[in-house]
Amino acid sequence: MSGANTRTVVWFQAGGCTGCSISLMNADYPDLANLLLDEVVPGKGIALKFHATLMGPTGRPALEALERIPEKEAGEYLLVVEGAIPTAAGGRFGMVGEVPMAQRAASLARRAQAVLALGTCASYGGIPAGVPNPAGCVGVGELLRREGIQVPVVNVPGCPPHPRWFVETAARVLLGLPGPEELDEAGRLKAVYRGLIHESCPRRPDFDVGRFAPSFGEEGCLYELGCKGPFTESQCPQRGWNGGVSWCIAAGHPCIGCTEPDFLDRFSPLFRKLSLEEEQQAYRRAR
Ligand code: SF4
Ligand code: SF4
Repeated sequence: MSGANTRTVVWFQAGGCTGCSISLMNADYPDLANLLLDEVVPGKGIALKFHATLMGPTGRPALEALERIPEKEAGEYLLVVEGAIPTAAGGRFGMVGEVPMAQRAASLARRAQAVLALGTCASYGGIPAGVPNPAGCVGVGELLRREGIQVPVVNVPGCPPHPRWFVETAARVLLGLPGPEELDEAGRLKAVYRGLIHESCPRRPDFDVGRFAPSFGEEGCLYELGCKGPFTESQCPQRGWNGGVSWCIAAGHPCIGCTEPDFLDRFSPLFRKLSLEEEQQAYRRAR
């Protein structure tokens, strides 16, 4: 699709594992081809002009094309950032084309219409920002705050995010920027993330009667094995993953809280039940 109803999307990959892009490639209804070639919402589509993993061009010509977009399309393009931003030592822990990722992300964001922080690393720092964080990794929202850049940021966390969380957030942004009342305290769209996993979990009846799985592979609630579903907002129970086939808890694995700020540190060790004090803190943040 091309024309006046397409919005240029620049996809900038910083300090991450590319898992968010890989997850998006698993999208269905619409799949990735639909997303790139058709209208995402009636009358509106996207024109992906830079994505280091998906595009053909490489090297200096590709970077020069990237650098021209903020000048040519100021205020009109969406910036998707994937991965955390290294800021220590002048940003030298992460470079793209001999320029620090932090510098590139800031200059791309400065003239964007809005930024989608895709994945928990881009949203809040994620695993790269885990203690001791020698590279000084931060999420893109924090980078923009430090740089005094006022462009709206919508977080789409998850490690990786479900492809639908991106599609639905992108569709909402194409229809117009969401108002502050549409975002939760963690900067996520409420319509996409609202609801604690614990509230809709199929193992909840086990929790309510105190039937806890003693070890992996056993029946029962996974709380004693470290499940963070009571503190995690996402619609995994309703949607499932991989075309709705399964998801973490259905597959017998505790939720590790991958959509939450401060993941991974706040919830680690992953397979340990939180202490009472940690639980109280987690409840306060989840509410
Ligand atoms: S498995 Fe996790 S989310 Fe499900 S009921 Fe138990 S503690 Fe709650
Ligand atoms: S169940 Fe928890 S850990 Fe698994 S994808 Fe959903 S939010 Fe992330």
